[in-house]
Amino acid sequence: MPMVEKISPYVFRILGLNPGKFTLQGTNTYVVGTGPRRILLDTGEGKPGYMPLLEAALSHLGNVQISHVLLTHWHRDHSGGLGALLDRCREQPAKFTELPEVWKRHCPEHDPKAIHALLKSPIRINHISHGMVFKVDGATLRAIHTPGHTSDHTAFYFEEENAIFSGDCVIGQGSVVFEDLHQYIRSLKVLRSFNCGRIYPGHGPIIEDGCTTLDSYIRHRMDREEEILHVLSTRPITHFAPHEHEGGADSDDGTTAAMRAASAFYLHYHQQTVAGFPGSSSIPWTARDLVRVIYAKYPKSLHGAAESSVLLHLAKLRAEDKVFAAQADGVTYWSLTPKRTL
Ligand SMILES: [Zn+2]
Repeated sequence: MPMVEKISPYVFRILGLNPGKFTLQGTNTYVVGTGPRRILLDTGEGKPGYMPLLEAALSHLGNVQISHVLLTHWHRDHSGGLGALLDRCREQPAKFTELPEVWKRHCPEHDPKAIHALLKSPIRINHISHGMVFKVDGATLRAIHTPGHTSDHTAFYFEEENAIFSGDCVIGQGSVVFEDLHQYIRSLKVLRSFNCGRIYPGHGPIIEDGCTTLDSYIRHRMDREEEILHVLSTRPITHFAPHEHEGGADSDDGTTAAMRAASAFYLHYHQQTVAGFPGSSSIPWTARDLVRVIYAKYPKSLHGAAESSVLLHLAKLRAEDKVFAAQADGVTYWSLTPKRTL
């Protein structure tokens, strides 16, 4: 991807120059609008090369200034360039006749350390509420609170193009890391309700068919969720493939003595010791056992990461009262809630 690119009559993309495993080609920042005052969406992480790129783009556009800085969320690769931008505006009052207004949904937990502490001179960071509209010539951006990746995450609906600036809610390649899956899926559905065309993601290439991409993001998560619910409705040991156990199959149904023994122990153990499963139709599972079944085709080295993902799904399902958890000997066991019928 070029470092600076005019993507549409309204949008310039400037790369944050911070490529990496999690940031793909680096963070995308966008200059939006057509007039002398434009909106900058995200600031990159503050790489020294970024400000010269931004300034070159602004002078190329004529006598153009950044009037608003909108930050999608507190992560440093999106907000870390704010300090350098403001310093530059203060150093060159002839070029930057106004200090931009800075807007971000407040996040009292992270903002003080992630943003405020890194600014040389304190500045007012205005709070973005859901539905707030930001307007310059050629750009009307409506804030959409989209928690899940982070609690403060804000995407923007771009009316002139029926497009969405998605921040890290949807990215151009690979998959999104999230803190709260329940909220994250809800946010994806909110974005889907806009029936947008393009998505301008926080990382990676532009997505032309936003609806299809949002549908597949939602589908992927729902499929995994159905799989977890299905596996929870079965008995843990019956799913282990014979090859996972020494000695191979030694009976008609493909089980081994070791498996049958483990199964008997497992069922006995849980029935005896796991309190809090009255009337549940399913046998409790550990997240690790779920991973062994659901990710059976994947290398074991990925099971650790898969377990974090399964736990986020379980937390979502618990928030929806579809599963519940109980502790025994410091281990958490998961089961379907009794009233659920598949
Ligand atoms: Zn992020």
